[in-house]
Amino acid sequence: MILIFIFKPALMADFAEAKEYYEQVTKTYWQRYRELQELERAMAKARTEMETACKHDWVRDWEDRDERSRWICRHCNKSR
Ligand SMILES: [Zn+2]
Repeated sequence: MILIFIFKPALMADFAEAKEYYEQVTKTYWQRYRELQELERAMAKARTEMETACKHDWVRDWEDRDERSRWICRHCNKSR
């Protein structure tokens, strides 16, 4: 889904070329950063939708090292 197409000049000695490359990398970074933020929101929404659709089956969470007893759904991994 996410591809990076950055042309890296072979000769970085030329300042104009190096500057253009730097600006290209910076621009790509911020584009990907925004895409990741959007993906993070989409992921949280998808998880909520999955948990809402799930007919939970609660089992004891033995992985938990906490003192409190915890339960986890064996289908969607939601805890309570
Ligand atoms: Zn569940």
